[in-house]
This record gives sequence, structure tokens and C-alpha cells, in this order.
Amino acid sequence: MATNTVLRLSGTFSQPLSCLFRHQWKVTVVPVQRTFSKKTNGTGPQKTSSALVPYRNQSTDVAPAPEKKPYSPFQGPFSSKAEYALTRLDDLLNWGRKSSMWPMTFGLACCAVEMMHFAGPRYDMDRFGVVFRASPRQSDVLIVAGTLTNKMAPALRKIYDQMPEPRWVISMGSCANGGGYYHYSYAVVRGCDRVVPVDIYVPGCPPTAEALLYGVLQLQKKVKRMNTLQMWYRK
Ligand code: SF4
Repeated sequence: MATNTVLRLSGTFSQPLSCLFRHQWKVTVVPVQRTFSKKTNGTGPQKTSSALVPYRNQSTDVAPAPEKKPYSPFQGPFSSKAEYALTRLDDLLNWGRKSSMWPMTFGLACCAVEMMHFAGPRYDMDRFGVVFRASPRQSDVLIVAGTLTNKMAPALRKIYDQMPEPRWVISMGSCANGGGYYHYSYAVVRGCDRVVPVDIYVPGCPPTAEALLYGVLQLQKKVKRMNTLQMWYRK
């Protein structure tokens, strides 16, 4: 631990200000301890006191590495080797499904513009394996983006029915979630979950492209937990 020296001026300030110049100042040399040293043990500078530690040094401390979680959400215990093998197969299946989600383009109103932003280069949904597909028979996600009217509801249901299993639905925006601004309109369905089962609700009017991106990531998390083969084995 290194030490520095400082000059310390001391005196009493009980007299009026004009008397300060006539005051007898006492100058002493005082050794002080350095409050940090350059030597580290891998956890940042060693602090001995918080009094004189520069804030800049504090802010550049290296944060501890986050705890590593196992990839699979299924960690046992397993009743047999067969169950263990099927669990790993489930992991493989889920990895394939969540990494290649193909949403059906179903823009109904203003929310669709944000959905298009999500597909653009700034947010670049392709990097998550999400690619729009304009055919219900080859897509597995339906993003309901906008106001669903009574007239459009049968078409939405038809498109949903044409999609192969497993399929998921993301409801995007207040209108799709519960009618939104048009909740009391005679022409609007008060939530697309009256027509199709919804997996993820993205709130907002309109939700930002980041919000939709977050919704898709949440859906990927959900898919990662699917236990299709394990349920088949337990039955
Ligand atoms: S939630 Fe807002 S932005 Fe989205 S379709 Fe409805 S009114 Fe338009």
C-alpha cells in the first residue's frame, strides 16, 4: 500500500472574515494512505476506503460474469434412459422450431407498418430465423397486426385453419388485443382471441418494432419449453 503526502492548512475560523488575513496559519505535512492500488486480483481495483476513490475508477470496474445456465430447460430427474433420450430429442426439435419461425403476413391496419419495420434492416428479424412467408400452408406463426373487424374475422380464422400444426399466434397492438380505440365500435372484434387462440400479446398503440421483436423472443422461449415427445412417452 503506497502512501502520499499532502500539505494541510489548519487554523480556527471563529473570527470575522477581515481577520483571516491576519490569522496565524499553521502548515504541516501529513502522510495519507492511497485509497486504491493498481494491483488487482481479477475483481477490479482493491479499495481500502471509499473517501477518495475517483468515481471514474469505480465506473470502469469489471462486472462479474453472469452465471451460466444450461441450454435445456429440462434438467430431470429422469425415470429412465428412454425418457432422457426423448428429452434431448425434444430439445433438438424445439431448437429447430424456434430457430426457423416463418410468420404469415397478416397486416390489418397501422400496426402493420411497425411489423414491416421489424422486417427491415434496422431490426433485421432474419437474424433470429424469422422470415415472412406469404402462404398459410408454409408458415407457423400468425401475427395479427391491426384492427380486426367482424367482416375480416372469418378470413382470419380460415387462414389460421390452413396453417399446419404446430402453429402460434402473436396478437400485436391494442386493437388486436382487445379492440383498442374501437372497443365500442359495432364493427370491431373485441380482441382477436375471440377468433383464434393467442400465445403472445404485444401491448401498445402501435407497439414499437422492438416490442414486436421482444414478443417474438418470448415466443421462442415458449417454444423452447415444448415437451411433445416427453408427453407422448408419459402417456
Ligand atoms: S393498436 Fe393503434 S396502431 Fe395498432 S391498429 Fe390499433 S389503432 Fe392502429
